[in-house]
Amino acid sequence: MSGRVPAAVLYAAGEPLRLTELTLPEPGPGQVRVRMAATGVCHSDKSLASGMLRHELPVVLGHEGAGRVVAVGDGVTGLAPGDPVVLNWSPACRECWWCRHEEPWLCADAAAAAQRPYARLADGTEVYPGLGVGGFGAETVVSASACVPVPADLPLTEAALLGCAVLTGVGAVRNVARVKPGDSVVVIGLGGVGLAAVQGARMAGAAEIIAVDPAPGKAELARRFGATDVLPGGPGLAKQVRDRTGGRGADHAIECVGRPETIRAAWSSTRRGGQAVVVGVGARTEAVTFHALELHHFARTLTASVYGNTDPVRDIPSLVADWRAGRLDLAGLVTDRVPLDRVNEAMDRLGMGARSVVVFPD
Ligand SMILES: [Zn+2]
Ligand SMILES: [Zn+2]
Repeated sequence: MSGRVPAAVLYAAGEPLRLTELTLPEPGPGQVRVRMAATGVCHSDKSLASGMLRHELPVVLGHEGAGRVVAVGDGVTGLAPGDPVVLNWSPACRECWWCRHEEPWLCADAAAAAQRPYARLADGTEVYPGLGVGGFGAETVVSASACVPVPADLPLTEAALLGCAVLTGVGAVRNVARVKPGDSVVVIGLGGVGLAAVQGARMAGAAEIIAVDPAPGKAELARRFGATDVLPGGPGLAKQVRDRTGGRGADHAIECVGRPETIRAAWSSTRRGGQAVVVGVGARTEAVTFHALELHHFARTLTASVYGNTDPVRDIPSLVADWRAGRLDLAGLVTDRVPLDRVNEAMDRLGMGARSVVVFPD
């Protein structure tokens, strides 16, 4: 069973991923070997591939995955071969200060798996699992704590999106903004995360959901997921939002891009006393500025959301319940399916559609 499996490997930042083969070990104590069924292509994969976000190299990217357990190591309980699982790229240790203070998304140990080689390339070189997952390989070996079981009737291509986009987008709305029925919400950036945030706002009972993205084709998707208005963004956005929210601005803005101008737009689109939640991951070279008086005058809250401030062990089952009740449309978020050898095309198409998913053969 330790045979080679195909994988797309990033050898150096700025290069395309290259298809090759990995040799994976048998799962060690506390580990699980998973055969991937599907892995979504997330904007963070592109940021890691370009070098905007750094990662140990060479690396098998792909962190939004679902598959089936094929083998478990010593001491693993509650998981058996054949079980369908979603992979959690930020498994909590349950012991550090943050975990003990109920902030497992900030776990001090969450990035540890990404910093340890998990497999070898054909020439013997050690390779790292992207964000600890390595979802652009046909199989992976992860900690049992990174596996969240899902029901057998949830299609794994849809389940994959629970591993990043949906947890992140819905989590920002539920756990960070805490949107209430009747609230107004602006969502800026309508990729997989932003469209999940739109769905989160709808599930929370928001009265106005203003979805913002300049890309053609986003309006139809956003309306399908609950947007009451779709705007292209740009310099006039804050005024357009005020015009739609009684002249005040929105109660909440969810920023899913991570650029200075969209973070500013999120801030400026909220009302006095409102809240802007930054979900997008920006670059260390880009600054966002506020003048001192506006901080006082508008009395807004500016906060970030990390992985939707979720505990996937708790929140994935709750999202599955939303899916089962027909409240959460996962199938609609999958707008493109590609085999592994076309993963670079899917990376290039980020920004179009909702989510592209790499689908592995059975
Ligand atoms: Zn992601
Ligand atoms: Zn921890």
